[in-house]
Amino acid sequence: MRTDEKVRRIFADLGTRYGHSFHEDPGTALAKVTAETEDPFKVLISTILSQRTRDERTEEASARLYAKYDTPHAIARAPVRKLAELIRPAGFYRQKAQKIREVSRILLERYGGRVPDTYEELVALPQVGPKTANCVLVYGFGKPAIPVDVHVAVVSRRLGLAAEDADEEEVERRLRRIVPKAWWLQLNELFVRFGKDVCRTNGPRCTVCTFTDFCRYYRRLRRTGKSGPLKTGARIPADTR
Ligand code: SF4
Repeated sequence: MRTDEKVRRIFADLGTRYGHSFHEDPGTALAKVTAETEDPFKVLISTILSQRTRDERTEEASARLYAKYDTPHAIARAPVRKLAELIRPAGFYRQKAQKIREVSRILLERYGGRVPDTYEELVALPQVGPKTANCVLVYGFGKPAIPVDVHVAVVSRRLGLAAEDADEEEVERRLRRIVPKAWWLQLNELFVRFGKDVCRTNGPRCTVCTFTDFCRYYRRLRRTGKSGPLKTGARIPADTR
């Protein structure tokens, strides 16, 4: 199947599977923050809290933090020890407490307390890399971007949208080339839901998946009975799958 046909199939099927329930059940922690607050600052802070952390823990840490401190001004002035205590469920909480305080201070000093809405300005902030910047653009400002987290990367590699050994930045570059820009805003939400629900990182539920006819991972599983990564050097260019 051609790549553009695969992309159309994937978005059509995932849209049918999840698209209609976005408002009733926002899904990911970031989508929930967006639905509840529509505040780019909270999206930025929650994205930092979500780094190397499960969604449920991010939600808990965010709720505890915003109940007490929910503006750049409040977080910049809060004691780091108090911030760390509130975001403790997020893991790496001491380091994250320092970073969210520093980010809040910079937002006040450079941007009058507003979150910048360009990729270049966002990645210049501490603790903000490509994934976090793209999350803020999509969930904070509704600007087209492609945040690649573990689910987006795993689903893209398994389905043959990216090379099997592509890292997250390569996956992002590849998706930017093959997915029409009009669909970028939905990509992260759809792929994350699918990754949690069906194409699970540890144990995909292929029996309830509609992509078995072209999924690279499924084909190999059927052929070899093995689900592990290909051997070193056995890189499969996405274009040839
Ligand atoms: S067939 Fe299995 S591995 Fe492939 S996308 Fe579906 S759930 Fe994931």
